[in-house]
Amino acid sequence: MKRGALLALLLLTSCGGATVAPERGPVARAWTYVFRLDGALTRLEATVCFEGDAPAELGPIDRSGRRYLRSADGPLGPDEAPLPREGSVVLTEHLPPNSCIRYVVDLDAAARQRGGISGAYRIGDDLIASTSVWLWAPRRRAPDARVTARFELPEGVVVSPLWARNADRWFLDERAFEFEAYAAFGTFEVRHVAVPGACLHITLLGRPVAMGPDALTQCLSGSATAASMMLGRFPVREAGILAVPTPLSQSSPFGIVGRGTMPTVAILVGEQATPEHLGRAWVPVHEFSHLATPFIARDHAWLSEGIATYYQEVLRARAGLQSAEDAWRNLDDGFERGRAGGTGRSLADESRDMRETAAYRRVYWAGAAIALAADVEIRVRSGGERSLDDALAHVNECCGSWDRPMTGEEALEHLGTIEGGAFSQIARRALGDSGFPRLEATYRRLGLERDPYGLDFGDDEEARALREQIMRAPESLADVPECGPWNARE
Ligand SMILES: [Zn+2]
Repeated sequence: MKRGALLALLLLTSCGGATVAPERGPVARAWTYVFRLDGALTRLEATVCFEGDAPAELGPIDRSGRRYLRSADGPLGPDEAPLPREGSVVLTEHLPPNSCIRYVVDLDAAARQRGGISGAYRIGDDLIASTSVWLWAPRRRAPDARVTARFELPEGVVVSPLWARNADRWFLDERAFEFEAYAAFGTFEVRHVAVPGACLHITLLGRPVAMGPDALTQCLSGSATAASMMLGRFPVREAGILAVPTPLSQSSPFGIVGRGTMPTVAILVGEQATPEHLGRAWVPVHEFSHLATPFIARDHAWLSEGIATYYQEVLRARAGLQSAEDAWRNLDDGFERGRAGGTGRSLADESRDMRETAAYRRVYWAGAAIALAADVEIRVRSGGERSLDDALAHVNECCGSWDRPMTGEEALEHLGTIEGGAFSQIARRALGDSGFPRLEATYRRLGLERDPYGLDFGDDEEARALREQIMRAPESLADVPECGPWNARE
């Protein structure tokens, strides 16, 4: 696949919650799930039991889930709460308090769709199934609802780390229903790997890749360590990683981020990839960089994709996975491709309609150009004291557990809290412009100049110091925690 197509795929960062909350019925305050799967992983049966009043409606966390619901019934028999013909919502308004309902989802039908990892996907005997396929929840729920889950799985089958967990109990918060997460079911191995400030639960799906599980785990934890060189620690305390082998020739052709009670990241890994190539690949670093911001509403894709695209180059240089010169060249090449792409409209419009127009290069690289310009501006204004890293640290601190999509305005406000709103000023100027963000002044400060032979770095000392500052690894990283199969939670 060409890089443009990959960028297109990378956009699929997930978000559920496309449905409208109903006005009627009790608000659900506490409920439990038991999920059962058959041996062939074709069918999921969920029993949902409510404490106190049962809600009037249960809906899929994403509209697409409606397609796979096969039946729903109450505790007294299948006629008590029949599934409406239009197949959209389980009506439970006749249920007495403290009752349960059961629903069945056709996982096989979901896996036969062409949704790939973002829906359901078989990889050998294992199954990846996004919660958008199988998780249904009360439409009206208290923001602090107490929700737990258990899985009853066939002998030898396990579920990949998905939500907060203590032994066989899982704990869900509002983010589990607002965003989709990527789950896998099968007989795979899960490794619990410590990286600076975080635990990664790495699920090794499908057949073993040529490099073997140890090298694969090391490559991914190396990418995660690179991603720690923005905030001094991995952007979130815990994440579930699905390593998904693919026959494609690239070392890592695609990745996708799920948000939820715990972020989940699925990363395609070439079956024949060498550690040398996978260890240096940009896709894992790009995906992990997304975790430094909450999910930002899709019409502002330039913002989340721009930050991840800028940092995929910067962080690999900081971690020594590529040279600083290569990072500058990759950025410059990307800006050139971004300039050549697009439909000639403002970045704001282009970003909003990107999924229809496929103007991915323009949006991703214009966003990266804004990130670079803002990083340089913050560094110059603060006399080298602060950087874009600090703006992202602020967003992470204020809003790391944000439980709904953050709007572009909210994100700009938070990113603009340092150096007099440098980031938001640069961004607002670029957003209304139909051309590519102007980088002449930024390039001058960095001593960068394009000539027919490529990128020239010049010999200005101040410019060189600024370039080195950006690509320099932090002096220290957070300690690595103790990591195990579940996070301590009562
Ligand atoms: Zn991305």
